[in-house]
Amino acid sequence: MLQVSSRTSGLGTENAFVVLKEVNELIAKGEDVINFCIGQPDFHTPRNICDSAIKAIRDGKHGYTPSPGIPELREAIAEYISRTRGIPVKPDWVVVANGAKPFIGFTILSVTDSGKGHEVLYPNPGFPIYSTQTVAQGAVPVPLHLLESKEFSFDVDKLESLITPRTKLLILCSPHNPTGGVLSRADLEKIAEIAMKNDLWVYSDEVYSRMVHDSKFESIASIPGMLERTILCDGASKTYAMTGWRLGYAVNEKLAPYFSTWMTNTTSCPNHMAQWALVEALTGSQEEPDRMMDIFKERRGLIVEGLNEVDGIRCLLPGGAFYAWPNVTELCRMAGAKNSEELRKMLLYEAKIAVLADIHFGSRPPGEGQHIRFSYATSNENIMEGIDRLKDFVRKNRK
Ligand code: PLP
Repeated sequence: MLQVSSRTSGLGTENAFVVLKEVNELIAKGEDVINFCIGQPDFHTPRNICDSAIKAIRDGKHGYTPSPGIPELREAIAEYISRTRGIPVKPDWVVVANGAKPFIGFTILSVTDSGKGHEVLYPNPGFPIYSTQTVAQGAVPVPLHLLESKEFSFDVDKLESLITPRTKLLILCSPHNPTGGVLSRADLEKIAEIAMKNDLWVYSDEVYSRMVHDSKFESIASIPGMLERTILCDGASKTYAMTGWRLGYAVNEKLAPYFSTWMTNTTSCPNHMAQWALVEALTGSQEEPDRMMDIFKERRGLIVEGLNEVDGIRCLLPGGAFYAWPNVTELCRMAGAKNSEELRKMLLYEAKIAVLADIHFGSRPPGEGQHIRFSYATSNENIMEGIDRLKDFVRKNRK
């Protein structure tokens, strides 16, 4: 019988896409669902960015490009990262790929050896691809639990206790998906000390770097001694409302040539005309992205206040990204749902509100409550209507 490899048959996934299919099927049947599960801005890509891609097509910029990206884009990224992170980045250290996501796999492939027990530390709850790619590449995922009692911050003592001689890579994500937590400079300094002491690579997932609502964004790469060991990853998707354009980039002097070879081995190069659009996004007017970030901040206030008005829900104020991560343990109890996933289904089919459950972001840490994720990349009207539906759901389902 033809066999599928265990590597592939056991491959995990990003459940947001699975839930989205379920939600879209309901919407296609004419159901009026308010969708809080999509992790993408609900804005149009700014006009100047679209125009530069159209011009690129008209100018014949449609062939293959160098695997790490066109020189103009690598220069623009080096300048942008140097300016925003306060570090001296050279264009040669930059590789562009079809989204930020491929760099998660490329990094694990580049710093661990398959089957040797090499360990990758990653935040849990967290972006699911950190652990699915670790397993797929033959390394061992080691979750660092982020707890509500610690406001979902990194527990540095716990981090240190999880490091072994086999630990090769530490993954950070700030602002964090799904909790919205932001690592402070003080946290990053402590983490950096541990990374340097234990000679770890650090993957710093900074795709929400422009969405820090109350403080200044800080990158671990800017802490003295960290630049060489940090794989700094950012992208076009969240900042410029460009999810479908598929463009992201990573910065690291030593790994850039290897990432470039991985690009040659996989997609050859990023999309040519989209690269010209990102040059414009990075070097052109920032009025539109700044406006979008202001709107996200306003929505954060609206959704967190609204959620805290609902019986059985408790929500901390997220410092960044566009996610709220409320504790719904009490709501599960009140509605007779055995866990957050059962509650998610009740909310979808009864209240017509689409959210994701904590189990879509990793296993629930022992003793931790039930959580669901709201993406507030949707209009104020949808947020207010969603809160009203939640209140109504509570009224009807209180057991
Ligand atoms: N990293 C995190 C934490 C994300 O939430 C996402 C997308 O949701 C990505 C990476 C991937 O982004 P991209 O669209 O650039 O591949």
